[in-house]
Amino acid sequence: MTLARLVPAAEVADEATEALRAEVRAFLGEQRAAGSFTPSVDAWLSRWDEDFTAALAARGWLGMTVPVEYGGHGRSFLERFVVTEELLAAGAPVAAHWIADRQIVPSLLKYGTEAQKRHFLPQIVRGECFFAIGMSEPDSGSDLASVRTRAERTDGGWSLVGTKVWTSGAHLAEAFIALARTAPMDPQHRHAGLSQFIVDLRSPGVEIRPIISMNGAHHFNEVILDGAFVADDMVFGEIGNGWKQVTSELSFERSGPERFLSTFVLLAACADRMAANAIPRDADLGRLVARVAGLHQMSTAVAGALERHEPADVPAAVVKVLGTTTEGDIADFADLQASPDAVFLDLVRAAVDQRPGFTLRGGTNEVLRGVIARGLGLR
Ligand SMILES: Cc1cc2nc3c(=O)[nH]c(=O)nc-3n(C[C@H](O)[C@H](O)[C@H](O)COP(=O)(O)OP(=O)(O)OC[C@H]3O[C@@H](n4cnc5c(N)ncnc54)[C@H](O)[C@@H]3O)c2cc1C
Repeated sequence: MTLARLVPAAEVADEATEALRAEVRAFLGEQRAAGSFTPSVDAWLSRWDEDFTAALAARGWLGMTVPVEYGGHGRSFLERFVVTEELLAAGAPVAAHWIADRQIVPSLLKYGTEAQKRHFLPQIVRGECFFAIGMSEPDSGSDLASVRTRAERTDGGWSLVGTKVWTSGAHLAEAFIALARTAPMDPQHRHAGLSQFIVDLRSPGVEIRPIISMNGAHHFNEVILDGAFVADDMVFGEIGNGWKQVTSELSFERSGPERFLSTFVLLAACADRMAANAIPRDADLGRLVARVAGLHQMSTAVAGALERHEPADVPAAVVKVLGTTTEGDIADFADLQASPDAVFLDLVRAAVDQRPGFTLRGGTNEVLRGVIARGLGLR
């Protein structure tokens, strides 16, 4: 039996992007020195800072892969990868633009109408338009094809009725792309009859209810769509093609370096304290660093595959399973260290709080192992 290649060929050497990496590091050093942010754990999901986003936009580090004709910078996936990897490693507050930049940009480029691209892309590049994700529902997470939100034809557009849940940042974002049924579920073809719609989250018929996390943070929401109107020009892609589109969106959602770097600042904090003999030396630190180094190579290889327009869903699943497990192991390792240092303890607390979500969001590890098994021809 020949084993399928689960990690794409890594054809791009780190040297090619060294100057850009140095530029981003210098910028982050200046921002930290100016007190514009404090490094934090899981900042790509929980630290919403529109001023910081604006500073990144001014440097040309938002919408990097958007073509120049749509107001973007026409840069490569690998260049974007380097910038995002540095921002994540620094624990910078990037949540405001993260979803728009990561998955809405490539989805719009792939399936958006010319008018949608001209409307949204320049605003995303300028850091002025933020998106949420409208996939999960109270009884539909892993089995996304079972969504019950319905879209019905009405004058000049569609009327959406249903409930989305776990919608990160919906209370702050302008819009989300909702997955909805436009034809009744056919048990023989469960993935047919689904469509996507760009919903203005501030429009009538949209109610956003906060879901407060155990640590008191407001990050999640429930979004009730009660006859929310979506005009024909905001239908996303083709009616009935929603499954293909949403799985393409998921591959962008799953493939990035945020799937192994959410707790990197904590790993770095452990190394600093250990080097200063503030916490006891422990060989497990080296094991975690080695795992992160390997994940950097694998994740770079996935960015290279995206650059070459190769399918990357199976390699991305491999990185996500290994990466999110490593993020959690870093939280556990740091939690065992007895340190009186308040900064360190804050990072540990945040990592332990956020940890349960690492292996769930964007598709659970159990489900992703199924994707890998399919990639190996086992299912
Ligand atoms: C921090 C965080 C942020 C999120 N943000 C968003 C967001 O912005 N927008 C959005 O739409 N959603 C969001 N989600 C929801 C997320 O996508 C779902 O939690 C995820 O897809 C799992 O769905 P579920 O919670 O309904 O669990 P379920 O699908 O009910 O799964 C429950 C358990 O059963 C297991 N399981 C299910 N099916 C299988 C199977 N076939 N084989 C083996 N095991 C299986 C799962 O692995 C899991 O352990 C977020 C979640 C988290 C944790």
